[in-house]
Amino acid sequence: MISDEIQRITAQLPEGVRLVAVSKFHPAEAIREACGAGQRVFGESHAQELQRKHEELADIEGLEWHFIGHLQTNKVKYIAPYVSLIHAADSPRLLTEINKQAERCGRTIPCLLQLHVAQEETKFGFTPEEAQAYLDSGEWQALGHVRLAGVMAMASNTDDEHRIREDFRRARRFFEQAQTYFPSPAEGDKAGGFTELSMGMSDDWHIAIDEGSTLIRIGTQIFGERQY
Ligand SMILES: *Cc1c(COP(=O)(O)O)cnc(C)c1O
Repeated sequence: MISDEIQRITAQLPEGVRLVAVSKFHPAEAIREACGAGQRVFGESHAQELQRKHEELADIEGLEWHFIGHLQTNKVKYIAPYVSLIHAADSPRLLTEINKQAERCGRTIPCLLQLHVAQEETKFGFTPEEAQAYLDSGEWQALGHVRLAGVMAMASNTDDEHRIREDFRRARRFFEQAQTYFPSPAEGDKAGGFTELSMGMSDDWHIAIDEGSTLIRIGTQIFGERQY
């Protein structure tokens, strides 16, 4: 049951860790069921699918949509008006486009730098060195409609728990180091600061929490195998 899983997971979350229920490829009805258990933060990874669900579920109060997958620059416009957090800002070019679309909507969109720490080859994400260079460049400071809010990472796709932990540690080390670039938010000011570390999925979220995650992204454990 979706609602049982949500309750089981949220009961185990330490203070300061939030659950992103990853609803991609599951129907709007599954999201309604999760909302019945009090869940309001959902993660999607296709812009048009998110757009459709955003419209279908417009009657639910307080929904927060997070975009968690690779975002193509030409799709940013579909989600810019309402997305709450973009987890996978994986290139300077994408951040520039998010800034442009956010400005059009009169918004500031919080984004996480996607850090590539896993073993697998992928074309997505900054290596820690690239992310460091991007922060050093100061380019992001000119993006008045993007707020860099933290770091997102995925661990290697392996059963080797040690390896997974090492990947998460690298992400956390970068996150902590990057925090020195940002002023800490005023006491009680939830709108500011480089404070989010998004890591952990169905198979590795316990390890991610051990290693300092503040946002876990869980799909399969809540909704079962993806449907379409
Ligand atoms: C699909 C996805 C998830 C959820 O994965 P599960 O293994 O189903 O929990 C988390 N993060 C990202 C970036 C995803 O694309």
